[in-house]
Amino acid sequence: MHRNHVLIAMDAHTIAQGARAVRDALKRALDMTSLTDEVKVIETGSLGIYNRGVVLVIFPDNVYYVGVKVEDVAEIVSEHLIKGRVVERLHYTDVPVEKAAEMGAAPRFGKQQRVVLKNAGVIDPESLEEYIARDGYEALGKALTTMKPEDVIDIVKKSGIQGRGGAFFPTGLKWSFAAAEEAKQKYIICNADEGEPGTFKDRLILEGDPHSVIEGMALAGYAVGADMGYIYIRGEYRMSIERLNRAIQHATENGLLGENLFDSGFSFNLEVREGAGAYICGEETALIESIEGKRGEPRDKPPFPPSVGLWGMPTIVNNVETLANVPQIILKGADWYRSMGTEKSPGTKVFTMVGNINNPGLIEVPMGTTLREIIYDIGQGIPEGKGFMLAQMGGTTGGILTEKHLDLPMSVEALREIGSGLGSGALLVVDDSQDVVELVENFVEFFNHESCGKCTLCREGNGRLLELLQRINAGKGRMADLNLMEDLAVTMMKGAFCGLGQAAPVPILGCLKYFRDDFVRKIGAAEMAAAA
Ligand code: SF4
Repeated sequence: MHRNHVLIAMDAHTIAQGARAVRDALKRALDMTSLTDEVKVIETGSLGIYNRGVVLVIFPDNVYYVGVKVEDVAEIVSEHLIKGRVVERLHYTDVPVEKAAEMGAAPRFGKQQRVVLKNAGVIDPESLEEYIARDGYEALGKALTTMKPEDVIDIVKKSGIQGRGGAFFPTGLKWSFAAAEEAKQKYIICNADEGEPGTFKDRLILEGDPHSVIEGMALAGYAVGADMGYIYIRGEYRMSIERLNRAIQHATENGLLGENLFDSGFSFNLEVREGAGAYICGEETALIESIEGKRGEPRDKPPFPPSVGLWGMPTIVNNVETLANVPQIILKGADWYRSMGTEKSPGTKVFTMVGNINNPGLIEVPMGTTLREIIYDIGQGIPEGKGFMLAQMGGTTGGILTEKHLDLPMSVEALREIGSGLGSGALLVVDDSQDVVELVENFVEFFNHESCGKCTLCREGNGRLLELLQRINAGKGRMADLNLMEDLAVTMMKGAFCGLGQAAPVPILGCLKYFRDDFVRKIGAAEMAAAA
């Protein structure tokens, strides 16, 4: 029995900050002080604290240390673990996840409600036992031994959960389409091809709690009658891929994947497929083409994948976050899920906060939490006393939100009403010292690079938009360029073949709507200079 557990966040970000070296130094220090029998070091996924270097938590004391370096380890061992005194200079003073709810509105964790992230940073993601100790695979056992597939779909439908990949289509309804198909083979695909700048929620979910996604896929398979699943993940996510493969192996060795699960007659097998880094492969039909070994380009729709998907068979494609919610819904019920969030957007939402914000990182809040609460309470505001200019919600294709939207609830319906959306859940915060025209050029450069080239409007349209923006930023813009950009953007939205080309102009139109003066000022200054 260990008197202390030291949890060290071991995600791709903290590893880059030296987490492995800190872990090794900690183990050496415990060895030298003969504390290895009393203090256990556990590697976990991300705690969501993102810009504070290496993060440690010491339990049962609930003390968080941030910015820990190898040279700090001896002090933590001698002061905290031997003498019981907190090392204040490294102490992260926010209230830990477990204590936050009972202690009220602590800045970062107090407003969070962790369903998908309930295990992230708390368990060793490579330990099947630790996942099982926190109700892991209980939902799968419950479904396979006490429920019919249609009961599983019924609960998911009643929960009201909508797909968290960006489209927010009702998950239970999607499952019911595939369940209704007569086919000798059906598939479940987890879409982990997270490719937008600033979006890394799926990576941190997979790094922190891979079994929750695997269990969600097995439940989806049981519900629709699929016995094979694929996790399509971007190839750069090496740690997620390693942890997923290990989790699949452990689950298979322990009878939680494979044949005749829980003696129910239901079998489910899983494989990981690595993407080569094309943004368009996050689109479900391009993703299916890619798994089939073809060039990743979107298919004509209809037919939609629940009817005709992978190798022509009924296929459910769900996002990582959606699937990670499913075990909790099956275990705790639809009413429990509906007790969080808003009536039309039940549940929680995982966001990644990036940009000009004091406390960037990964958070999970009930749907309907306002933008102000996210930026100022959880994110602790804008650095260096600067003002808020805009937020882009939902990744690079996301809508532009300004000061007047700060009290808007972040729910599907509230954002739809203003022509925006939650998208991938990435929240980019921009302070008032930034150049909005350069920012837009940056967005368009990304889409111009990532357009798959299949349709003219997107392939050529993004190129022309980029040229116009480069011209304006180079001081050679004309006032007529603004209407030209708007016309082109609207045409692309109406006529591009897939979501990428249709959504690419969203931030341009948003910035032209709310910050037109910035464009006009830049062009006006250039025209005056040319006339002088
Ligand atoms: Fe490809 Fe863009 Fe057309 Fe989509 S809209 S098919 S990404 S060229």
